[in-house]
Amino acid sequence: MTMRVHVVGAGPVGLLLTALLQSTEGCSVHLCEKRDEYTRTRMVQLEPYLVADSIESYRIDSIDGDSVEAIFDPPELEEALAYRRSIAPDLSALLQGWAMGFCPLNSIERSLSELIDARGHSVERTAAAVTADDAMSMLEPGDILIDATGSKSLLRDHVIPTSEGPVEAANTVTVRLEYALVITFLYGQPYDCNEYCKYYKNKENPRYKFIPMVNRTHYDGAVSHVTGIVSISAEEYEAMPSRFDGEWLRESAPDVARSMDRFIEEIKRETEGEILGDLEIVRIPLDLYRARNATNRQWLAAGPSEHPFSRSPVLLAGDSAIGSPYFQSISLGFESAMFLARLVAQRDLAAREMLDRYELYIYKQWLRVYMRSKMIKHNKDLFESIDEPLALLDKLHIY
Ligand SMILES: Cc1cc2nc3c(=O)[nH]c(=O)nc-3n(C[C@H](O)[C@H](O)[C@H](O)COP(=O)(O)OP(=O)(O)OC[C@H]3O[C@@H](n4cnc5c(N)ncnc54)[C@H](O)[C@@H]3O)c2cc1C
Repeated sequence: MTMRVHVVGAGPVGLLLTALLQSTEGCSVHLCEKRDEYTRTRMVQLEPYLVADSIESYRIDSIDGDSVEAIFDPPELEEALAYRRSIAPDLSALLQGWAMGFCPLNSIERSLSELIDARGHSVERTAAAVTADDAMSMLEPGDILIDATGSKSLLRDHVIPTSEGPVEAANTVTVRLEYALVITFLYGQPYDCNEYCKYYKNKENPRYKFIPMVNRTHYDGAVSHVTGIVSISAEEYEAMPSRFDGEWLRESAPDVARSMDRFIEEIKRETEGEILGDLEIVRIPLDLYRARNATNRQWLAAGPSEHPFSRSPVLLAGDSAIGSPYFQSISLGFESAMFLARLVAQRDLAAREMLDRYELYIYKQWLRVYMRSKMIKHNKDLFESIDEPLALLDKLHIY
């Protein structure tokens, strides 16, 4: 019998999951998306561990590597790597390409979407904004429902049973790390930045430090794509529009702009290049969050009822399940899609077992990303006070 999997949300994670399930025997995929075109041009980076071919290369990240070793058992990692090796060559080639550097988000989305359409096994697509009720009424006995609708997840509040109906954020744990401006620009010369560079180019910036992300610069043969972040206060965040350009920043937040400009002047002095075009700036809260329950296993455990979620598995994937700042979310989402596709392919696996395994997996990924994000934030905090020993000591807790 064919198993039907409904994937709601065709962002990067929903699309990858669909492409993985499309070639799974005995599985038919129904993909729903509300947008009619892919317009998000922001440059994103995928983690090299996504295409690692050994445990050693999977643990290559200096902050993440130890956590991976502590959290995952070697056989788990071996199984994940074996699954990656089995991914169809057309899809695997795309992943290899993206993991090499920066890529516009919409080009990832378009390539996946085109790959799905070009393949022989068809996927049923619905172009509509799905409501929670729609999602529930799609579910026939034996179906699986996967919510890949991103950070404002459609079903995160619905996967747990509550007597009075879903309660907003009742199933979400959020850690707000900071508010930040994400500043992106193109630069007409090769440019790279390590920790020494971040320090020296910010030496004259006591308050706002412009911090290019490690590995967040990429030279494509003609231009460097540079992304950096500047921490701002909650009040500054509230006073800014969500997206603006360099001119707005210079007029409305001159102190932040001066720090950024000083940093950019230093780059120009060193490499004799020019900024190409304008700066693109977004202000975002850097939140780390997870769904306390990434599946509806509590509904199943509560026993049979009229509610559709008490009968069929429902799982959250990608930003619906875990969201993290510091540019690692898509990679985590892709990993959750791969794990889910492996679970769905095991046709003899009971629904409860599938949900338990997925919950454990998501919890382990949460521990991993929580530790990595807290460590990055801590390092950034220390960096802010690097020239003030007393302020620095205030932030250190040694033993
Ligand atoms: C400035 C910025 C820079 C970033 N840079 C990086 C980076 O370098 N690396 C990285 O890993 N991550 C980065 N991220 C995060 C990354 O963009 C997200 O983690 C990623 O897009 C999440 O993918 P997703 O598929 O889970 O969700 P989304 O990309 O949010 O996709 C969800 C999809 O579901 C659809 N949808 C939502 N609701 C419904 C509904 N009711 N019915 C039908 N469809 C629906 C949406 O239209 C969308 O297509 C960045 C984020 C920001 C803001």
